[in-house]
Amino acid sequence: MPFYAPSWVPPLDYDPPDSITIADFMLDEHYGRHPLGYSRAPFTCGLSGKEYSSLEVKERVDYLARGLAKELGWHPNKGSEWDKVIGVFSVNTLDALPLAWATHRLGGIQTPANAAYSAPELEFQLKNSGAKCLFTCLPLLVTAKEAARKSGIPDNRIYILDVPKEFTGGKGAPSGMKTVDDFIREGQKLDRLEPLKWQKGDGAKKTAFLCYSSGTSGLPKGVMISHRNVIANTIQIETYERPFRDTKRQPLTQSAYTENVLGLLPMSHIYGLVVICHASVYRGDGVIVLPKFDFTQTLEAIQKYKIGSLFLVPPIIILMTKNKIVLDKYDLSSVWSIFTGAAPLGHETAEDLHKLFPSWKIRQGYGLTETSTVVCSTSPEDIWYGSSGSLLPGVECKIVTLEGNEITGYDQPGELLVKSPSVVLGYLDNDTANKETFQDGYMRTGDEALIRKAPSGHEHVFIVDRIKELIKVKGHQVAPAELEAHLLTHPAVNDCAVIQVPDEKSGEVPKAFVVKSPSVGLEESDRMLARQIQKHVEEHKARYKWITGGIEFIDQIPKSPSGKILRRFLRDREKEKRRQA
Ligand code: AMP
Repeated sequence: MPFYAPSWVPPLDYDPPDSITIADFMLDEHYGRHPLGYSRAPFTCGLSGKEYSSLEVKERVDYLARGLAKELGWHPNKGSEWDKVIGVFSVNTLDALPLAWATHRLGGIQTPANAAYSAPELEFQLKNSGAKCLFTCLPLLVTAKEAARKSGIPDNRIYILDVPKEFTGGKGAPSGMKTVDDFIREGQKLDRLEPLKWQKGDGAKKTAFLCYSSGTSGLPKGVMISHRNVIANTIQIETYERPFRDTKRQPLTQSAYTENVLGLLPMSHIYGLVVICHASVYRGDGVIVLPKFDFTQTLEAIQKYKIGSLFLVPPIIILMTKNKIVLDKYDLSSVWSIFTGAAPLGHETAEDLHKLFPSWKIRQGYGLTETSTVVCSTSPEDIWYGSSGSLLPGVECKIVTLEGNEITGYDQPGELLVKSPSVVLGYLDNDTANKETFQDGYMRTGDEALIRKAPSGHEHVFIVDRIKELIKVKGHQVAPAELEAHLLTHPAVNDCAVIQVPDEKSGEVPKAFVVKSPSVGLEESDRMLARQIQKHVEEHKARYKWITGGIEFIDQIPKSPSGKILRRFLRDREKEKRRQA
C-alpha cells in the first residue's frame, strides 16, 4: 500500500492541463484570478525597487517573444523545441522568468545554469543542452563569453539580462550588446506571433526547462522538465497551502491580500524556479528578487518590503541562529513563515531558531529536480521538527528495502520512491540513468526515508540519509563522480574517491581520498601535495565544489569486485573517525 497525502489536504481541483505552455498557464489562465489581478507586481527588485505589474509582465513577455523570434529566426510552429534552446547564466533578475515564458511562447526550452559555475562547467551545460544563444548578466560576462565561445555560441548570440546598478557598482550593459529591453523595444514594432498549435498531450511531452542534476550517480545530466510538470507542481503546492493561506489572508488591500515572499534562492535551481517563481506568483504573491545572498541586503529587503514568507536553505537558517544581534537591528515582524528545503534541516537548528523567534512557523519541504520540486511539505498547523512534512496532493510514495520489498509500516527506513504528475520526463540522452531512475511509474529518489505518525495523527516523511552519490553544499549539488574525474587529471593522483563530510556552515562539504601516483617523490610533503590538488580543483570548479573537507592519502580505494567505489565504507570509516576524535 503506497502512502498518500493526509486527509486534511484538499484533493487536486483539476487535472493539470497538458495542452498549454507554462507561459499560457501563468500569464493567461491565472492572471485576473485574484481581485488585485493585473495590478499586482509578480516580481520586484529588492535592491532598486523596480517592478512591473502583472499586465506589464504579460506585455513584456509577448514583445520579448516577438523580438527573439526575429533575432533568432525562430517560429512558434516550426522546428522542434530542441532547435530552440536558450541558455541562461545569471544571478537572479526581474526578467529571468519573463525570458523563460517568452521562450515557451516560441515553443522553446530554457536551460538555466548555476551562477557560480566556472567557464568549463558552463561550457559543459551549453554543449550538452545544445543551447543556441546565451543570456547572461554584466558581472558574469567574462565567464559567459569564454564558455559560449568554446561551445560554439558566437559573441553576437550573447545577450544581457539587466541587473540593478546597486549590484554592478553603477555599471550598465556594455555598448553593442543587446539587452532584454532592446528585444522588447524591437518586439513592440513587430507583428503578433502565431499562437502555438499544440495537440492535446503536447504539454506533457515537451520540455520547458532543462535543469542539471547528477541524479543517483555519475555526472550532471540534463533533466527534461515538461510544461505539465511545472504546472502540476504549482497546482499541488497551491492546493496544499490553501487551507491555511485562506484564513491568513486579510482584506483586499494591495499589501495584505497576498504577501511578499523572499526571492533570494537561485532561480536556476528547481526550488527557486518552481516554488518561488511559479507557485508563489501563481497564487498572487509578490517575489522580492535579490541577485544573490548578502545577509544585510536580505534583512533590509525583509524590513522594507514587509516580507511574510522566507524561502531559505539550512545554511542561512544556521547563520540566522548565530546572529540574533544582527537580526534584532531590523523590524522582521512581517515574517510568519520560514520554509526550508534542498538539504536537511536538523531539528536542533529548527529548535534554536524557534527559541529566537517563537511566532515564526519553521517549515521544511523535500523535493528534487527530478520531481519538479516539492514532494512533501509542512503545514504551519502540524509542525514536527526534523520532519519534511506530509505528501502533497497527487503524490503517491513507497518505501522499499535494498532488495526492493515494499515497507508498509511506520518507522522503518528504506529508499523513497515517488509517483506524481510532477515527475519529470527523464534525463536527456541517457537511457541507462533513465532505466535506473524511472521504474514502473515511480521515480527512485536515492534518499533514505521513513514514515512516522505525528502526534496530530497525520503521516510525516522523514529523510534520514542519502543512499545516492550526491553531496549537498549549501543546497547546491556536487557530484562526486565529477570531482573524481577532475582529480584524476592531476598528475599526482593515481586513484581517488570523493565523499561528503558534515560541515557546520555548509551542511556538507566534499572530502577526497587520494592514492598517490608512483611518480610522486618521497620528499613531497602530504600537506603541500594536498594543497596542490585542492588548488587544481579551485582553478576549474565552482567555489561550492572545492574540497574543503580535506584530502586524505590512502593506499587503495575500496572497490567492489565490479570496480564500483565503496563510498558507504569510506563514509562509515569517516563517521567512526570523527566520533572518536
Ligand atoms: P536537487 O535536485 O538539487 O533539489 O536535490 C535533491 C536532493 O536534495 C534530494 O534527493 C535530497 O537528497 C536533498 N534534499 C532536498 N530536500 C531535502 C530535505 N528536506 N531533507 C533532506 N534532504 C533533502
